[in-house]
Amino acid sequence: MAGAFWSVVEDDRQGNPKKVMAEVLGEATRLAGEMGSQAEAVWLTDKATPEGLKLLAELGAKRVWLFESAAFSPYRGEVWTPVLAELAGKEAPQAILGAVTTRQRELMARLAARLGAGLSADSTALAVDGERLVATRPVYSGKLLAKMTWAKTPWLATLRPNVFRPGDAQPGAAPQVDRPSVAAAEAALKFVERREESATGLPELTEAEIVVSGGRGLKGPENFVILENLAKVIGAAVGASRAAVDAGWRPHRFQIGQTGRTISPKLYLGFGISGAIQHLAGMRTSKVICAINKDPEAPIFKIADYGIVGDLFEVAPLLTEEFKKLLEK
Ligand SMILES: Cc1cc2nc3c(=O)[nH]c(=O)nc-3n(C[C@H](O)[C@H](O)[C@H](O)COP(=O)(O)OP(=O)(O)OC[C@H]3O[C@@H](n4cnc5c(N)ncnc54)[C@H](O)[C@@H]3O)c2cc1C
Repeated sequence: MAGAFWSVVEDDRQGNPKKVMAEVLGEATRLAGEMGSQAEAVWLTDKATPEGLKLLAELGAKRVWLFESAAFSPYRGEVWTPVLAELAGKEAPQAILGAVTTRQRELMARLAARLGAGLSADSTALAVDGERLVATRPVYSGKLLAKMTWAKTPWLATLRPNVFRPGDAQPGAAPQVDRPSVAAAEAALKFVERREESATGLPELTEAEIVVSGGRGLKGPENFVILENLAKVIGAAVGASRAAVDAGWRPHRFQIGQTGRTISPKLYLGFGISGAIQHLAGMRTSKVICAINKDPEAPIFKIADYGIVGDLFEVAPLLTEEFKKLLEK
């Protein structure tokens, strides 16, 4: 039997696996099934909850490797990487899958270097081909799709959120939990202060099924409230172009694109965004793209499924009202 297909758990820091784990574990379960193996989860946390462990089992993890210690919070790559590398050395997994999140982007790259293994970062498809795994990932800002495979195991890959189909949940599945003992490495970075983000009540950008995004066309930070009003009605997250972020209108964590977040929601609505290649790199795999721009020649219309040529200051409030009416019905 091939080694297990591991999924590195991304959690909300409160002991609950994030929504993207349904996709990562769903994919691990599907691939492991094709190779006669099983999906397992590896969870480093300072706080695992019974509900979180149960959820991992229901999402397909036949076993959960749990490393629970205060040393793992907050995340520091130099503490997490040796733990994962040591376990991988002992257990010889076939593959290690993670999600494209801020910390797993770094963690998986570190782990690949430590194991001398290959990493397909930001994968949008994985397929078993005989004894091999073939990954697809966008390159050159999404202009090309590269297919790649690995020279040796373990096969490491991070999966773009909202692209992979979540697996069928198995309600009632009970987790088999292994708690290997480990001496966590000393952190090179000292944790100074945590500042909690003020809750917006809106979903997180990379996990949201709908994203409303604003660019320079918004003309100022005060006008983002127009997009927030729309987002509240349709349950969307609010993102921004780099022009809006560079102008100081939104913090960098809301930036979509090559030097920001990569998103793949079911619906992307772009207001006053021209559609520069670097912006498209972060959102072109969205399932449905709708652009609102007063310039009919704006490049974003070339990739948009729906386009509205108009003034966003008129269109956005109209859309908000219409969605409100429709959704109240
Ligand atoms: C190395 C590098 C990395 C980069 N990384 C990123 C990145 O990660 N993300 C990113 O977004 N960009 C990135 N950029 C910048 C990118 O090239 C563009 O400059 C940027 O995306 C432009 O942002 P924008 O579309 O908001 O602004 P603009 O290009 O100025 O477009 C504004 C649009 O708003 C429209 N508009 C104006 N008023 C209205 C109105 N009232 N109603 C409707 N429409 C209106 C205009 O017609 C125009 O199309 C990067 C650039 C470089 C060189």
